[in-house]
Amino acid sequence: MSDVVPTPPAPFFTVGTRMPDRLGRTGIIHTAHGDIRTPAFIAVGTKATVKAVLPESMKELGAQAVLANAYHLYLQPGPEIVDEAGGLGEFMNWDGPTFTDSGGFQVMSLGVGFKKVLAMDAVGVQSDDVIADGKQRLAHVDGDGVTFKSHLDGSPHRFTPEVSMQIQHQLGADIMFAFDELTTLLNTRAYQEQSVERTHAWAVRCIAEHEKLTAERAHRPYQALFGVVQGAQYEDLRRQAARGLESIRGVSGRGFDGYGIGGALEKQNLGTIVRWVNEELPENKPRHMLGISEPDDLFVAIENGADTFDCVNPSRVARNAAIYHPDGRFNINTSRFRRDFDPIDGECDCYTCANYSRAYIHHLFKAKEMLASTLCTIHNERFTIRLVDRIRESIEGGYFDEYKLETLGRFYGS
Ligand SMILES: [Zn+2]
Repeated sequence: MSDVVPTPPAPFFTVGTRMPDRLGRTGIIHTAHGDIRTPAFIAVGTKATVKAVLPESMKELGAQAVLANAYHLYLQPGPEIVDEAGGLGEFMNWDGPTFTDSGGFQVMSLGVGFKKVLAMDAVGVQSDDVIADGKQRLAHVDGDGVTFKSHLDGSPHRFTPEVSMQIQHQLGADIMFAFDELTTLLNTRAYQEQSVERTHAWAVRCIAEHEKLTAERAHRPYQALFGVVQGAQYEDLRRQAARGLESIRGVSGRGFDGYGIGGALEKQNLGTIVRWVNEELPENKPRHMLGISEPDDLFVAIENGADTFDCVNPSRVARNAAIYHPDGRFNINTSRFRRDFDPIDGECDCYTCANYSRAYIHHLFKAKEMLASTLCTIHNERFTIRLVDRIRESIEGGYFDEYKLETLGRFYGS
């Protein structure tokens, strides 16, 4: 063990322009692999690759950071291999900042087979035993951790807060998340209360393990740890969870470096829930909203004080021929594009729109050519990243509301 313990680049986060009447702000997250100007959309590379796209292309289209998944990389290839490679960034040839999530979401959602979890429409009869039709229970949560079966081969595994921290330290991302319990809107209020307590207890254990591993692995750059605020749709639980996490201090006296806002919520409550949480959290730490990328969600989360976001949607829907466009989403697969030789978005500055036509991309999908996914993913990632970049500029320039009205009016058709 070294006696030189890495510390975050000081300061880890600096606030730039504040919105005058709301919690929204711009800022800069400083990591060992570079700065992230916020608000920022973080591209998802679940298995250490943004599906179908080269890291160089991601850089070119403006991605500032990439988020990979601790659960998937634990199962395949194994975190020790990523560690031997020199960490996630080295392994995947991405020299910018990286994030990993804790694996909690995947352990519980893939394992249990919840109906889509962030699943804003999963409202119905409340029950604490929510399993989608035709699925068996593959994960079991207890006070100490989660036992689950791999979705790949059914092999048994167990994640605890300590295991998640060990895996994420081996993966070596600049920003990691504490291991939390995922609930759904179908869980009862009583269960949500228990779950917030459990997530708090796990957060205490995550910080302790994180400090131990940070000291043991002092040869590696500092990895920041974010606590994850749960509490579903309940104002008192959300506020209590946020205050509770912020009160945790390890032996070093340091708390979390930032926060994630996770869990089940309905789309129409997103802004309110983000506001409750951010009213409790300190201004000088960054806040990451897990799993959003739709334009209206991004505006609402940003004006309520969220700084970074990640979501698989821009690339996932691209592989199914869905295109983000300033005038709304459309499907390039439909026959009206057979002879359309315009770019998919004439206002877009991406590589795809500079070089290829709708007719060509339509053809690639019909012919089931791999390049279709590549070209559409480049465009959709660029669309989402540029949207958040422009929101940041609108905060700096003092025209957020005008930009929001115009953008959402066009996208959703007012
Ligand atoms: Zn484009």
